[in-house]
Formats: sequence, structure tokens, C-alpha cells
Amino acid sequence: MQELTHFIDGAHVKGTSGRFTDVYNPATGEVQARVPLASPEELKAAIASAEKAQVGWGATNPQRRARVMMKFGQLINENMEKLAEAISREHGKTLPDAKGDVQRGLEVVEVCMGAPHMLKGEFTDDGGPGIDLYSLRQPLGVVAGITPFNFPAMIPLWKMAPALASGNAMILKPSERTPSCSLLLAELLKEAGLPDGVLQVVNGDKEAVDTILDDETIQAVGFVGSTPIAQYIYGRAATNGKRAQCFGGAKNHMIIMPDADMDKAADALVGAGFGAAGERCMAISVAVPVGQKTADTLIEKLIPRIEKLKVGPYTAGDDVDYGPVITSAARDRIKGLIDSGVDQGATLVRDGRDFSLQGYEDGFFVGPTLFDNVTPEMDIYKEEIFGPVLSQVRAETYEDALDLVVKNQYGTGTAIYTADGDTARDFAHRVNVGMVGINFPIPVPLSYFTFGGWKKSAFGDLNQYGPDAFRFYTKTKTVTARWFSGIKDGGEFNFKAMD
Ligand code: NAD
Repeated sequence: MQELTHFIDGAHVKGTSGRFTDVYNPATGEVQARVPLASPEELKAAIASAEKAQVGWGATNPQRRARVMMKFGQLINENMEKLAEAISREHGKTLPDAKGDVQRGLEVVEVCMGAPHMLKGEFTDDGGPGIDLYSLRQPLGVVAGITPFNFPAMIPLWKMAPALASGNAMILKPSERTPSCSLLLAELLKEAGLPDGVLQVVNGDKEAVDTILDDETIQAVGFVGSTPIAQYIYGRAATNGKRAQCFGGAKNHMIIMPDADMDKAADALVGAGFGAAGERCMAISVAVPVGQKTADTLIEKLIPRIEKLKVGPYTAGDDVDYGPVITSAARDRIKGLIDSGVDQGATLVRDGRDFSLQGYEDGFFVGPTLFDNVTPEMDIYKEEIFGPVLSQVRAETYEDALDLVVKNQYGTGTAIYTADGDTARDFAHRVNVGMVGINFPIPVPLSYFTFGGWKKSAFGDLNQYGPDAFRFYTKTKTVTARWFSGIKDGGEFNFKAMD
């Protein structure tokens, strides 16, 4: 069986802790590799050499660092197929979806090619008599990225590209379920000219994370994952004096107004609800039609679309709509939540619990599931299911629908489908959610905006990527300078070479 590695000081390094965890092929249920789980000693050694490497990298001028990003972007493009295959093999998402995962990360690398502009400070000329003020943006030193299983390229790239372009070294601890893509990205960064030790990919579990959180060298932690872990990491990192931004789970609602184009709304819901088996932080898991007629029409339109969905392994071709979920435990949890929805009185319109695929009986598949008449007290509404399950909650009025979104504990993304600009505008202004789509189901902002949630979906300040990322990964120093009058009063004004 394949034994994966860490990537430390510019080379693949075997784990020495003696601890491993299995990496599955979710489509077959087979173990395809094992990944080492770093010990505190392995981590501390990686951090120590990152600290040394950061000195030279931080002193490299921003434009030269940006050139590494340019080359990195080119190499990502050239290796798109290989990266996508590594993602699909461990995550189970389809190849076109895996390429989208790489693409949305690559777009952040592209913005980081312009990092010198983002790292410019500010200047005030003559803030007082003969006094100038200027500010510098300097790297933090060694920072850490801790990432989830569901976007094995995009989220590590959201972390590493701005952190490195800003002159930091990074310890990246990818998900132990999908580690291979991060190892490939580290190889490409080396080829792009990143000095050894500036990016250390250290695989591990809670033990590695806790070592990062308590280590005095690490200056900042960027985390993405589930809400309980985000809150834990934020608390422990902040207690230890680190800068931390920790993004958590989601329960994204789409409001469908009676004047919406119902075919477009149904198409959007099927893609945003079931794509990537619902394992997206921006998946729409709750449809909120306004008015009984809208709700009845929506269900009528969703059923045939759901029946047409093709579920299968990524190897079955590009017409597969979605693949398996990540582990057998995730599959069992999702099925348990569907059971609870039935027990608590929701109407099960389409049931994916017994889904089975010939030849892939041991894969972690869940068929598309649709609930109607879901209420806020039910577990299927309260919990982030993170599976191919769409819940319809019926609302009487627009205000009731808005209130539902506002009262939900999560606030990553939301959407409204309507033909009325006034309603859409009101929604965008009043909703307490970080990213809003208007007739747009998964409103992941472009890479020169920023990505982040509100409420229990994010802990700490500033968003991921865009201008916020450069603020997060640098600290500001402000210089007040006065030069006393001197040479110009009695000096030599003839042009001559500098001594
Ligand atoms: P997870 O919280 O289980 O794991 C995330 C990371 O934390 C992994 O690297 C893991 O090794 C580590 N970890 C897990 N348990 C830990 C513990 N007890 N102590 C310390 N570290 C621990 O999340 P996941 O299952 O990999 O990813 C799915 C979750 O991520 C979903 O909740 C999803 O909504 C969320 N997510 C959020 C965003 C966002 O931007 N808000 C984006 C993608 C995914």
C-alpha cells in the first residue's frame, strides 16, 4: 500500500512518529494509502527550519516573490489533470468538479502575482514641520494553515498563496482524508522557485494541530473546517497570542419568491444542493419558497431533475453529477439524519438511503434526498448535514423567509431568486450572512473580493483572500521621520557620483 509523506525542507519525508491513518477511495470503500501523523517533535523541527527559511524569503523583494507566484500559476495550469485526479481519487468528487476546485484556488494565486501592489504602505508628506509618516506592511514570520477535506486544492491555495506572497513561511496541515493534493502543490512551488523550508506540508491530526496552536514561533493560524473545531482553534490560538481566522460550517438557505423563474430556481437548487454530494461549505441545503403555490411548483420541478441525477465514481465519465461522500462514518451520519427527519415528521419526497451502485456496493454513496415540510425545530434543519440532502421549509411571506435566515446560527452564504430588484436589494441589505447571491446559487466571490461568513460560520477578523488576506498575513509598522535641516543650507550642489 502507498505510504504518503510530509514535504519538509523541499523534499518528501517519511513520517517517524509510527502513527498513520488510512486514506480511502470513497468510491470503492478501499484503503488506498496511509498518511503519517506527525509527532510534536517532527512538527517542531519543521517549524524551526521554516523560521530560518523565512528570514531570506521575507527579505526577498515583493516582485521577486510575485514571480514565484507567476511560475506557480503556470505550473498549476500545466498540471491541472494530475491535481484534479489526486483530488477525485481521495475525495470522490467528479473530475470537472475537481478542476473547478483547482481553478478557484488558482485564481487566488493569480491575484497574488500582483502582491507588490497589495503590500504597498501609505505615506503622508509633511504631517508636521519637516515630518513625514509612512507605513510598512511586513510579514508575520511563520504562520500556519489548517484545512478541511472538501476542497483539497482551493483552500490550501487560499491559505498559502497570500501568506507566501506576503513574505511569510507556512506550515500547512491539510486534512488527513485528502492530503495528496497539498503534497503535489508543494512540489510545484519548489519547481516555481520557492526556497526550501518556506512551505512545510506536515500531515497530522489533533496532536499536530495542538502543537501548532501552542508553538511560540507560529504567529498566525488560518483555519477552515467545522464550527466546533473552528471555535476551539480560535480560542486556543488567541489565548496563546496568535492572530487567528477560523472559518466554520454552514446552513445556506435559498429564498424563492413567487415571481422567480421556477425552472432556473430548480436547476440552481439541484446543482447547489447535490453537487459534490452536498459537501461544499457553500452548498444550498435549505430551499425556502414563499407561498404554498411556489412551494408546490418547486417540488414538482425538483422531482424530475433529482430523478435524472447520475451518481457514481469519478472514473465513470464526465456526465456523473456527483460521487460518494468522504467516509463510511459520514455516510452513516447522513443516513441517521435522514431517519431523524422522518421520525420528526418531515415529508420524505425522495429517499437516497438505499442507494447502491453495481460494482461499488462498498463505496460511500448516498442517493439524492429531498424533504418537504421541514420546520426549524427538526435536527435536519438545525444540523449541517454535509450530504446530498435538500430540505424545503415553507414560508408564508418574504418577511418570514428572511427571518428564518436571520435567526439561523450560521452565516456563510445565502441566495434569493426573484424577478423583483427591490426585494433582492432589501434582502442583500438586511440579511446577516457574509456572501449573498441574487439569482445566483453559490455566490463564491471572485478572488479580488474576499470570502468569509458571519455568525457561527467564522471566528476572528478579516476574510480569506483578496485585500483582507494581505492584511491578515502582514503587520503594519508606522514610521514618523524628521530630517533636520543641514546639508542643503551650505552643501555641495554639483552633480557627482555617490560615494
Ligand atoms: P473538520 O473540522 O473535521 O477538520 C478540519 C481540520 O481540522 C482538519 O485538518 C482536521 O485534521 C482538523 N481537526 C479535526 N478535528 C480536530 C480536533 N479535534 N482538534 C484539532 N484539529 C482537528 O472539517 P472537515 O470535515 O475536514 O470539513 C468539513 C467542514 O468544513 C464543514 O463543516 C464545512 O462547512 C466546513 N468548511 C467551511 C468552509 C468555509 O470557508 N467556511 C469551507 C470549506 C469547508
